[in-house]
Amino acid sequence: MNIIIFGPNGSGKGTQGAIIKQKTNLPHVESGVIFRENISRQTELGNQAKAYIDQGELVPDEITIPMILDRLKQDDCKKGWLLDGFPRNVAQAKALYDALTNENIKLDLIIEVVLDREVAKKRIMGRRLCVNDNNHPNNVNIDPIKPRVQEGKMVCRVCGGKLKKRDDDQDEIAINKRHGIYFDEESGTMAAKNILKNKAGEGIKVIEIDGAPSVGEVTQNLLNNLKEAGCLLE
Ligand code: AMP
Repeated sequence: MNIIIFGPNGSGKGTQGAIIKQKTNLPHVESGVIFRENISRQTELGNQAKAYIDQGELVPDEITIPMILDRLKQDDCKKGWLLDGFPRNVAQAKALYDALTNENIKLDLIIEVVLDREVAKKRIMGRRLCVNDNNHPNNVNIDPIKPRVQEGKMVCRVCGGKLKKRDDDQDEIAINKRHGIYFDEESGTMAAKNILKNKAGEGIKVIEIDGAPSVGEVTQNLLNNLKEAGCLLE
């Protein structure tokens, strides 16, 4: 099963992606996480990507496209994948579609988490990352996933680990830029999504999920839809 999940930054896409990963046992391929890991390890890729990420700009396609297409060729992806954060523009959507067609790989499902831009911005600014696990969602602006307070300090609600902020999450200009790219229907992520959605005639299923309700409600809705689409391990 090959799945792509779309949603503006702050829509809860990462949280829902982690749940899908758990329920389907698919590797969760997140472009943003791959970049951040490379930045922490100070690899050449990380050094190249950092300035773009800090400004809320897309890392150039010459870097991003091969990085993701190579990742999808690794062994753990042979059984399928959940792609998150890619494609983000028309060039990436076309490159992905061409690569999949060449390799005779079918895209099975597109999930779109739909959320208003202003609501998404508030959520981004409240987001906190657990240093122990990327898949431990914490957000000071969302009650059900508010960090715990321990000895006067906020810690991860799941494991009690330290929390940190993403630099690009606290910069409103960078957030507006990222949303500008996402909501751009001409050449941005909405355009990329539409290119792939238009292939729905080729048997690709599309699930649209309202990202506004609570995390639990969104998850339930998503799981119901995935079950109906026959995508869940039982
Ligand atoms: P994310 O964690 O998905 O919000 O991604 C963080 C940042 O990584 C983005 O703001 C971009 O700078 C960069 N990035 C992630 N995915 C892509 C992509 N598909 N194309 C270009 N840049 C990306």
